[in-house]
Amino acid sequence: MQIIDGKATAKAIKEEIRAEVDSLVSAGKRNPHLAAILIGHDGGSETYVAYKIKDCAEVGFKSTLVRFEDDVKEVVLLEKIKELNNDEGLDGFIVQLPIPDQINEQRIIEAIDPRKDVDGFHPVNVGRTVIGLPSFTSATPYGIVELLKRYNIETSGKHCVVVGRSNIVGRPMSILMSQKSMNATVTVAHSRTKNLEELCASADILIAALGAPGFIKAHMVKEGAVVIDVGTTRVPSTETKSGFRLKGDVVYDEVAPKCSYITPVPGGVGPMTRVSLLSNTLKAAKGNILS
Ligand code: NAP
Repeated sequence: MQIIDGKATAKAIKEEIRAEVDSLVSAGKRNPHLAAILIGHDGGSETYVAYKIKDCAEVGFKSTLVRFEDDVKEVVLLEKIKELNNDEGLDGFIVQLPIPDQINEQRIIEAIDPRKDVDGFHPVNVGRTVIGLPSFTSATPYGIVELLKRYNIETSGKHCVVVGRSNIVGRPMSILMSQKSMNATVTVAHSRTKNLEELCASADILIAALGAPGFIKAHMVKEGAVVIDVGTTRVPSTETKSGFRLKGDVVYDEVAPKCSYITPVPGGVGPMTRVSLLSNTLKAAKGNILS
């Protein structure tokens, strides 16, 4: 069994990005620039955005944080998005989800110029991803594909079961795995799937993206399978300063001995999600997507 080290892989990719930024700047271009819109003070969102800002600094990107309070009106947010769409000094931006109930999330996503949609959530980017055109692809599935490639994991002709069908993880993951570059035969499972245990146990590559800690147990995994654990649920912990720790969807200790490859939580998919946002921002800065 080999552990897929997302942390080390992300570090290597960051170094590659840093080198590309250095050559852009030496060629007289400005540093890539990412902005993040953060609404309210949710602990998780604060942490994720802080990581994004820190990641930008590490690779030589400029970053801007735009904050609004929880009671911000949709029209105000749309106005800011318009301003960022037209800001020539900005390559890409994200609106940190989730957003408050008074705001229509889909309207916000669709207001972002697809050329600056480095989260890859705009229907133009989703559609282009589906038909295999250059696009900004949602960071988590993008990062998982990168891990599979960098570990030279054979995907062609393999049966890949993706558990979860969300717009940002499960569904785009299933699309990427079925594309000609990956050539897997894909089954997408969700909360209404029958015989889920048997289905998971038939997977050569099992991608768990449910958000149900410890859901995937040893009897649901085939001997020699590749297991990618996307789940990151915060559970209370007395062992950490923050009072919580992240738990994956897979019972790692019992599943790992059966696998050929497995991602840990933390240190597997999470760091790859972070670095994929940087990769998308670099692509936006280079202007070679949707141009
Ligand atoms: P989501 O929007 O809540 O989607 C969960 C999906 O799992 C849904 O499609 C749901 O089915 C399915 N599901 C839930 N319980 C199930 C069950 N018992 N059996 C079968 N299917 C079940 O979540 P998400 O945004 O995709 O995220 C999934 C997990 O990944 C979460 O833990 C999240 O924190 C984590 N995540 C991690 C990263 C990272 O970088 N590591 C990034 C993004 C998300 P229905 O569609 O039928 O409801």
